[in-house]
Amino acid sequence: MTKSNLPDVKNKAGVKNFSCEVCGKLMHHWKSLDLHMKMHSGETQCHLCHKVLNRSYALKLHLFKVHGISSHPHM
Ligand SMILES: [Zn+2]
Ligand SMILES: [Zn+2]
Repeated sequence: MTKSNLPDVKNKAGVKNFSCEVCGKLMHHWKSLDLHMKMHSGETQCHLCHKVLNRSYALKLHLFKVHGISSHPHM
């Protein structure tokens, strides 16, 4: 077996990259892309400083820590 017989090892191995159609970032798993797309949808973006968090829980923490805003005003 020679190296020349293996034209594209990465594709042959079944490893498929998922690229974000918004920013072109490459993900190795569709779940990662799914999570990533939430960032673009604004779901996890801070409306004050426009920082993008990777999950809604992180956004809640961010709002509280950075901006002093609690998402539970009744607490
Ligand atoms: Zn993206
Ligand atoms: Zn913020």
